Amino acid sequence: MKMMICDAHVHVGYYPRIDYNEITYYSPCRVVGVLNRCGVSEFIVSSTCAQINGIGIDDILREAQEIKRLCGTRAHVFFWLSGHLYDLDRRLKWLESGLIEGVKFHNDETPWIMNRRNDLYKILDRIAQCEMPVLFHGGINQGSRPWQIAQVAKEYPGMKFCIAHCRPMGEVVRVISECPNVWTDTAYMRLEDFKLLCAYDWRNRLMFGTDLPVWQAHENCSLTRRYREYCMSFKKIGLERIAIKAFHEFLNIQKKGT
Ligand SMILES: [Zn+2]
Repeated sequence: MKMMICDAHVHVGYYPRIDYNEITYYSPCRVVGVLNRCGVSEFIVSSTCAQINGIGIDDILREAQEIKRLCGTRAHVFFWLSGHLYDLDRRLKWLESGLIEGVKFHNDETPWIMNRRNDLYKILDRIAQCEMPVLFHGGINQGSRPWQIAQVAKEYPGMKFCIAHCRPMGEVVRVISECPNVWTDTAYMRLEDFKLLCAYDWRNRLMFGTDLPVWQAHENCSLTRRYREYCMSFKKIGLERIAIKAFHEFLNIQKKGT
């Protein structure tokens, strides 16, 4: 039987591309083309345009609408909330657009945890009213460390958090065992690190994620080929079924038999 692929970490929007002087636009059509060719059933997507000054909330919502037009309920759009976009609309009216299912924060891009924690808590209070999950970029930089995101997650036990990229892996495992509301994803992980995942108990909260199309910022590759390779490598480690279940639980989607 063909397994489903649920990708918890995809982007559309403007992003640098290696060997290109101009910033590249990864349109919904272009990204969805890769996902369709690779047989992806469902995915979480956010817009990298949020990082670009001059691009407003309406532009991002129009892009979200285009993704939904192309994919319907297969697409779960998260709003990447940059500091300047928060300053444009502190009431977060875009949450009522009917297009958005979650919010993404990237502490290397806007230091919410280090410098804007009061704003972050105000935002999370509002998101809690909508019962939406949130995704934080995770990593080794200050403000992106799993233990720092865990501090925030502990303040909102009823909200689901994903610490993206599953790094540093040992620290993410500890946080997952301490915080029942924290998930992680495999976005941008090195293929050779997939097998390390098998050594830990992820408590059904490990999601498959890719970071499509960010690979092209650092390497010259075909996105479709790279995506297929990524899926094949993940399938080999046998965590596919728990990753699908984790994806649906993170998004509060009831699925029979998963
Ligand atoms: Zn990403």
